[in-house]
Amino acid sequence: MAQVQRAYDNEWITNRGELVLELEEKLKTYLDVSNILITNNGTIPLQIALKLLGNGGEVITTPFSYVATTAAIVWENCTPVFVDIHPEYLTIDETLIEAAITPKTTCILATHVFGNPCNVEEIDRIAKKFNLKVIYDAAHCFGVKYKGKSIFEYGDISTCSFHATKLFHTGEGGAIFCKDDELRHKIFYSHNFGHNGPIDFYGVGINGKISELQAAMGLSVLPYMDSILGKRKEIIDFYNANIDISKFGPIKIRQNTIWNYSYYPVVIEKESLLLELMTKLNEMDIFPRRYFNPSLNTLNFINKPFLKMHISESISQRILCLPLYIELKYEELDKIIKTLT
Ligand SMILES: *Cc1c(COP(=O)(O)O)cnc(C)c1O
Repeated sequence: MAQVQRAYDNEWITNRGELVLELEEKLKTYLDVSNILITNNGTIPLQIALKLLGNGGEVITTPFSYVATTAAIVWENCTPVFVDIHPEYLTIDETLIEAAITPKTTCILATHVFGNPCNVEEIDRIAKKFNLKVIYDAAHCFGVKYKGKSIFEYGDISTCSFHATKLFHTGEGGAIFCKDDELRHKIFYSHNFGHNGPIDFYGVGINGKISELQAAMGLSVLPYMDSILGKRKEIIDFYNANIDISKFGPIKIRQNTIWNYSYYPVVIEKESLLLELMTKLNEMDIFPRRYFNPSLNTLNFINKPFLKMHISESISQRILCLPLYIELKYEELDKIIKTLT
């Protein structure tokens, strides 16, 4: 509330006011990134990235992500070309990317699923070899580091979501990261209608700006992030110690990653068992989420016939994200674990 009051006292509600600029500076330090532009959600950054780098071509992408990843490709008049995922990391299987490249391919849009980094080195190598751009949907990656660097520093453009359901949030919000000065300049004007001053325009743009009220939310949440992450780690350690990991494989986090404890997905043997489990948990007022289902190559707005994505389709039907939030009590955790055994 005190932060919101600042916006009222400043009589400045949107258009990159004091609170937005302060949140950007604080996030830059907290995340240890070289640059950041905060936006009004985590989807607009994907659209801006695809507008600038997609050129209406084919975009190699993962079928295992939130619908926004694929929808942004179609929305920007590009064509999604799906490549199946790695069965344990759940990120795009980089060994299958080269076979999917055609003369129409312009970029690769991959998701660091549940904050688990893609094989960024290999993707970078392929992109350089074929002269492609790389966009990472890093919506889940607040605070993730890979090889000592923020995961947002990888790829030509990286995006994040600050939606209320995400680890760090501004209600609605997001961010876009780009190391190249020229491209970053284009991103900046693209997110503000293309403005170059009040009556001059660099080029076409859209409204990707976040308001002071949302920045106030972010400034209020940020001081608690370390304690939130600590609490989530405790819950995940508890799950790991008490769940039969051989039966409910948790995801494998890539080596050299500082993870952010953003989700606790378990992959269940069969969909029928998952549904039974969900019913039991729902009866106890516990509501796990089916992230991500359906596999995005099966969406009704995707041109068919499409290639079958065996691993993604199979995992999508069998994956369940167990409750993970800081108010979760140990009695509730016990109940969840009992249901699973
Ligand atoms: C949440 C999410 C988005 C969309 O972010 P919004 O802030 O809700 O627009 C995009 N991609 C992934 C993987 C997400 O989980």
